[in-house]
Amino acid sequence: MSMQPQNIPPVPPDTEAVARAAFPKGNIYVSLRDNLGSIYEDEFFATLFPKRGQPAESPWRLGLICVMQFVENLTDRQAAEAVRSRIDWKYALSLPLTDPGFDFSVLSEFRRRLIEGNAEQLLLDRLLKRLRDLGLMKPERQRTDSTHVLAVIRNLNRLELLGETLRFALNSLAAVAPDWLMNQINSDWFDRYSRRVENYRLPKLDSEREALGNLIGKDGFALLNDIYAPTAPFWLSQIKAVEILRQVWVQQFYAPGEEGIVQWRTTKDMPPSTIAIHSPYDVEAHYSSKRSVDWVGYKTHLTESCGEDCPHIITQVYTTLSTVTDDAAVEPIHQGLEAKSLLPEEHFMDTGYVTAEHLVNSRTQYGIEIIGPVRSDPSWQARTNPGFAADQFEIDWQQQVATCPMGQKSITWSSQFDMSGQSIIDIRFATAACRACPVRSHCTRSKNAPRGLTIRAQTFHEALSTRRQSQETPEFLHQYHQRAGIEATLSQGTRRTGLRRSRYTGLAKTHLQHILIATALNLVRLDAWFNDVPIAKTRVSRFKQLQPKPA
Ligand code: SF4
Repeated sequence: MSMQPQNIPPVPPDTEAVARAAFPKGNIYVSLRDNLGSIYEDEFFATLFPKRGQPAESPWRLGLICVMQFVENLTDRQAAEAVRSRIDWKYALSLPLTDPGFDFSVLSEFRRRLIEGNAEQLLLDRLLKRLRDLGLMKPERQRTDSTHVLAVIRNLNRLELLGETLRFALNSLAAVAPDWLMNQINSDWFDRYSRRVENYRLPKLDSEREALGNLIGKDGFALLNDIYAPTAPFWLSQIKAVEILRQVWVQQFYAPGEEGIVQWRTTKDMPPSTIAIHSPYDVEAHYSSKRSVDWVGYKTHLTESCGEDCPHIITQVYTTLSTVTDDAAVEPIHQGLEAKSLLPEEHFMDTGYVTAEHLVNSRTQYGIEIIGPVRSDPSWQARTNPGFAADQFEIDWQQQVATCPMGQKSITWSSQFDMSGQSIIDIRFATAACRACPVRSHCTRSKNAPRGLTIRAQTFHEALSTRRQSQETPEFLHQYHQRAGIEATLSQGTRRTGLRRSRYTGLAKTHLQHILIATALNLVRLDAWFNDVPIAKTRVSRFKQLQPKPA
């Protein structure tokens, strides 16, 4: 497929006439085309297509169709059918009424080009640029939150995982090396691996399940031995499904003994969820858990503007493996916003994102004030009353001395790094003074040792202390209230576009899906803005409305 950039044609007169007659009260695509123009141009996608070959569909149209598809949560087939049959889609795409459309497979091919050309962000970023040019973006205040995303795979138990992994490898080998494979397997493999491995077909007794697992394990090791034998073609070991088989067998079994007896790994020897494979069909989908939600898949972070007198626009999408913590997303999100010149002055985030490092570094590197509460001091002293927590000790940073609530001064002060590489200060008090202390039980649970104190380096310690004090004030709570609106965005994305369920396998495609969703949600919001539809207020239940207001 080749592409020669073309100018965007105007909406054909017959298409316009029919669209205006069909939608006298307006339509989202007609309204967006009238107010925003075509949004994309062929030039933006020029690097994704070769100069020679059969002409491709206009990429500006394909980009817009990919986004419009998520405005209505349509499949590829439904989107291609909409291009062929709907007036409003033809209007947005400048197509004549007689245009026959294209085959739906063109859309997945276009998405593949976007991913391979690292151009996923382009669809969102070009819309953001257009909005900035039109004065419809106010990035000064933004808010971020994350949500879980289920992978497009079946949840497998351990026995199903083994059977499906071996079946996946056999199917792949059968496609590329059928003759070689037929010489390696026994006829009973067809009984075990021809059909989907599903729990309800597997034995119920533990002993029988273990015996079946051992048998599958033995078959897998036998196949791997044949593939890695010096006489086997080298390229067999390079097949993706074979590599997945090898990794899953390493994760699930110890190396077989001399007699070829397989041995299951015990739970303590199983790999952590950051690398454990849960399905051969999407090896990047990992198990994770957050509050009451357990899932296998990914996590996505949405950032949106939340200023007044302008539409709330999603500015940044960051999709990660499910095991990546929220606070690890802060720096990439700020880098992404900086690249688009959309850094906020205030960034609202919940506790999961806010660390001392981010409070300090966001301020110094990006000029961003993070508005969000930090975690409370986890020490038992902070949770006990009376208890002498770190913030009750006076710190003299110049002299490198801490003074406890009983007026005793520390005798040692050493700068160190903790296990995660953060700089900390370890402080100790005199053994004799602490043993003689009348309120020792408020300070330490050790029988004989003196009080030890571990605090962060000065800048971070002060940032934490200041935020812990301020986050309890009514002013802070009032200001922080603005963060809550991002929950509604996640809800809108889930209900309207299927945000929490990946359509595709792998992190890259899932990320692209979320960018398309964010761009689609922006179009929905812009349509509401152009038509003076106010932002919906938070719903309050009938029962809650009856609650008397505090005096
Ligand atoms: S136990 Fe030691 S550090 Fe703690 S209050 Fe008493 S004297 Fe101070």
